[in-house]
Amino acid sequence: MPGVNKRVLVLHYHEIWLKGGNKNFFLSRLIAAVKRTLEDLPNQRVEHVADRLLVAVPEEALLPLMIERLQKVFGVTYIGIAWEVFGGMPEMVDCACRMLDPMKPRSFRVRAKIADPVLGLRTMGLERELGCEILTFLRSKNADVQVRLKDPEVTCWVEAIPGKILVYAERVPAAGGLPAATGGRLVMLLSGGFDSGVAAYKMMRRSAHLTFAHFYGGASVSRGSSKPVAERIVRTLTPYQFTSRLYLISFDSVQRQIVGGARESLRVLLYRRMMARISREICRPERALGLVTGDSVSQVASQTLHNLAAVDRGLDLPIYRPLAGDDKEEILRLARRIGTYEISCEPFEDCCPRFMPRSPAIFSNPDELDEAEKGLDIEGLVTLGLEGAQVMDFKYELGQVAVREGLPHRFEKLLDHRKSLRPATPNPPAPVVNP
Ligand code: ATP
Ligand code: MG
Repeated sequence: MPGVNKRVLVLHYHEIWLKGGNKNFFLSRLIAAVKRTLEDLPNQRVEHVADRLLVAVPEEALLPLMIERLQKVFGVTYIGIAWEVFGGMPEMVDCACRMLDPMKPRSFRVRAKIADPVLGLRTMGLERELGCEILTFLRSKNADVQVRLKDPEVTCWVEAIPGKILVYAERVPAAGGLPAATGGRLVMLLSGGFDSGVAAYKMMRRSAHLTFAHFYGGASVSRGSSKPVAERIVRTLTPYQFTSRLYLISFDSVQRQIVGGARESLRVLLYRRMMARISREICRPERALGLVTGDSVSQVASQTLHNLAAVDRGLDLPIYRPLAGDDKEEILRLARRIGTYEISCEPFEDCCPRFMPRSPAIFSNPDELDEAEKGLDIEGLVTLGLEGAQVMDFKYELGQVAVREGLPHRFEKLLDHRKSLRPATPNPPAPVVNP
């Protein structure tokens, strides 16, 4: 391909531009993320020149894999698949013509970004001169080719930066957002469904580093446990943030106490409140600043504005609901793009529909839920949930996700502390129902 030029990927970022005094912090994290995502590939070199990153491509065959990986790096807005041209205008013309020739465009334009004056030309002059040469070349093959400044079939981009001229005709969108894990931690309530994986992605894209909490019930004859589904979703999401922790919490015994001790129509809301309370405790050892859920307003009965407000009462930490205003169609589109859709299509036993009320409350309020919880030993149930937790650590390195199991030290300390608070004579347990 184009002469003796060198293959290079041009990574553009956008929002980091707005980051005044913190720009260097975000940039260094972006560069580290780009290096880490390519660390197992040979001769990877990343340069920061004139507000873009240049990634050398050691072999043409690696190009698709490199692009696929870099598209997952938060902070990168788009990737130009470029050639670095050595020489002047004739070499630029040669490179651009060889690149556009196989694309057989009926219309094209040249767009230049000049951060360093080259060949004494300004933007317009370079676009015009290179455009004329390309037009002459393409018309020698097809007399109908036109220059079209608006909506052409192909754009030939030229970026002139100190010491380098980059030319490309293909650029692909990347993930956008802000560099991963630069904004602090949150605990994500992850079900096996479509919504929570997408909500996680949206918050990771806004720089939150997520720890996941999944609540599971027993598997049934026809459907397996939701645990492996949650694990696969975390495995799929980990390359975006490099490390993830997943708390797997058995919810069966907690649910049975709620079923035995509280009004039927409020059950799902009480399950949700309980999940949020247990997750809030997980925030402590994780030093997390809030919770995230995949709720979408009015999608189901538990997500009416009344019920969401009732569930949140008394939680005293922020609950982020990044899908609050999204339609299911939009959510599913994103689930397909990030790779969680197929995983959530698997049949699994979700814990919430178990012991489902025949007629769930639609307009509950916090007082009603507080009243319904009066017969329950709330703190005892939180401890019960935490005690049964299993913890998995996921790490993305050398292009693979590795998993390790074991309770983190800070979580063990939390458990010891909660056990020491247990009353000497526990409250009488609520009657347990075996539906
Ligand atoms: P979908 O609606 O596509 O089945 P979902 O993840 O939104 O998936 P919902 O039943 O709508 O599931 O639950 C709303 C939110 O409550 C979830 O997005 C999630 O944040 C939380 N949630 C529900 N079930 C669980 C669970 N078993 N473990 C952890 N969080 C859960
Ligand atoms: Mg949902």
